[in-house]
Amino acid sequence: MKAAVATKGHDVAIEDKKLRKLEYGEALLGIEYCGVCHTDLHVKNGDFGEVPGIILGHEGIGIVKEIGPGVTSLKVGDRASVAWFYKGCGHCEYCLTGRETLCRNVKNAGYTVDGAMAEECIVIADYSVKVPEGLDPAVASSITCAGVTTYKAVKVSGIEPGEWLAIYGLGGLGNLALQYAKNVFNAKVIAVDINEDQLDFAKKLGADLVINSKTEDAAKVIQEKVGGAHAAVVTAVAKVAFNSAVDAMRAGGRIVAVGLPPESMDLNIPRLVLDGIEVVGSLVGTREDLKEAFQFAAEGKVKPKVTKRHVEEINNIFDEMEHGKITGRMVIDFTE
Ligand code: NAD
Ligand code: ZN
Ligand code: ZN
Repeated sequence: MKAAVATKGHDVAIEDKKLRKLEYGEALLGIEYCGVCHTDLHVKNGDFGEVPGIILGHEGIGIVKEIGPGVTSLKVGDRASVAWFYKGCGHCEYCLTGRETLCRNVKNAGYTVDGAMAEECIVIADYSVKVPEGLDPAVASSITCAGVTTYKAVKVSGIEPGEWLAIYGLGGLGNLALQYAKNVFNAKVIAVDINEDQLDFAKKLGADLVINSKTEDAAKVIQEKVGGAHAAVVTAVAKVAFNSAVDAMRAGGRIVAVGLPPESMDLNIPRLVLDGIEVVGSLVGTREDLKEAFQFAAEGKVKPKVTKRHVEEINNIFDEMEHGKITGRMVIDFTE
């Protein structure tokens, strides 16, 4: 089968791969769609360590073709997902307290195990979340990482209806953060990006305030116009955005870090202490979060913008992503 594989040279090769036989508790998905996340770009560039030979992809949606022994949660014909959170150990303090994505023995699709940017993918049946009826599979692919990650991040932000949430970075993740924040959590949203196309898109999606941080000091504008944000979700792949978020908070504000620039952020200790600023990282979402995130999309509250592409275009897609040319998500189409 055809698969997009990370190479030593930090580009992606389209290879003919053969998957092993299913083991206990596993299922085989015939992949329909797999979204291209900025995390795939980090993985193929070796930002989290070198993984040549791995099949990329963790925004996968497919149909169950076969189930291994012991599988009760999926049956042949079901539509299900391949997410970054591929599997936890199932018995540690994190797995048992609703924080399974922090499991120290976690496996991640498209990074530590073969992912979904291929015609087929093996999943652990109990960790592969079913897609609700009526949700288009190409759209569902975006929820599998971008959607669940931002739905969870907005939850973690603790934002209340009517409060101001600043979203830094309105790309694949950020535009969904905006939609969950407005349409599910009923927050007021400030969209901050350096790219006018993303900001135009954010306006169309109903952003209450839009700031281009290339031409304006976003933190200053946020302090002047709304007295500081109650919380921020930072998806931008740039340290300056994290630093700006710190300055944009009102006292007691909470910054949820989601983007993964391989750098450190600055945090002034008196600002942290005297103004009670909180900074917390948020990593994808649990299976239950994904189920909820899917459901809101199935109800039409969140509408990912997806563009279907061929797997052979993968290196071009990464190039477009690096140069900020993508609005919404590019999704690899395996249905043809
Ligand atoms: P993307 O490339 O689609 O979007 C990034 C956006 O950030 C773009 O719109 C870009 O214009 C904007 N941006 C860049 N510099 C900026 C700046 N200085 N200020 C404001 N905006 C800026 O990427 P994506 O797929 O949305 O992923 C974003 C990041 O989130 C990546 O680092 C990815 O690895 C990470 N991620 C984290 C999790 C998690 O669980 N925490 C999950 C998925 C992705
Ligand atoms: Zn992702
Ligand atoms: Zn565990």
